[in-house]
Amino acid sequence: MLILLTIIFGLLIGSFLNVCIYRLPKNESIVTPPSHCTVCNTHLKPWDLIPVISYLLSRGRCRYCSTSFSPRYAFVELLTASLFVWCFYVFELSPELIKALILTSFFIVITFIDYDHQLILDKVLACLSIVGVVINLWTHSVEPFNMLIGSLLGGGLLLIIALVSGGGMGGGDIKFAAALGLCFGWEYLILTLFLSFIFGGIGGVLLLVFKMKSRKDFIPFGPFIALAALFTLLYGNNMITWYMEIIS
Ligand SMILES: [Zn+2]
Repeated sequence: MLILLTIIFGLLIGSFLNVCIYRLPKNESIVTPPSHCTVCNTHLKPWDLIPVISYLLSRGRCRYCSTSFSPRYAFVELLTASLFVWCFYVFELSPELIKALILTSFFIVITFIDYDHQLILDKVLACLSIVGVVINLWTHSVEPFNMLIGSLLGGGLLLIIALVSGGGMGGGDIKFAAALGLCFGWEYLILTLFLSFIFGGIGGVLLLVFKMKSRKDFIPFGPFIALAALFTLLYGNNMITWYMEIIS
């Protein structure tokens, strides 16, 4: 029963994340105007906005002007619901679950905006930082000093890499790492950066092999940091324990 509620909740949040992904880069409000077709401007009715189901029933088209909607809206909703179920499976009902669901939502928004616009928005990172600090203070999962160290370390390390590599890393990536340091503390932050380089390396090769990008194309790094942060969020504890056992 709880799983079903998690799926429905994930689909609804996914629907809201779509609005964020679409409107935030355009500096539009995420509250008003209500959802509308961007071509014919018709305000969509509640039954047009049921995640995934409305999309399937209308065969992916606007019911008023039959412009096709990108399947990505439904994909983001399904992705959000799947990741929420995964978080629920790992954390069960706990304060950690709330932190995981909120951070996961931020990671999804950051990933898709960065993919679309090669940009990680300051306002999104500011919200992530504030929310992260508040949750950490509430759950006592990361101490304030650890948040500060994590943030300085995240921003500092990527800044150095950006200076040394001469342009591979953007300002958004540096600020994203600093925000993650606040949310995670230094241990999880180090693990996130480590994983992001592995994922980025593998991802870069795959994109080239499958000719989705050419050597000259800019490949945004933000989605790889977000993916690494997600894995750290879900399995950081296990990975760090495992690592400690190996080196001891
Ligand atoms: Zn329309």
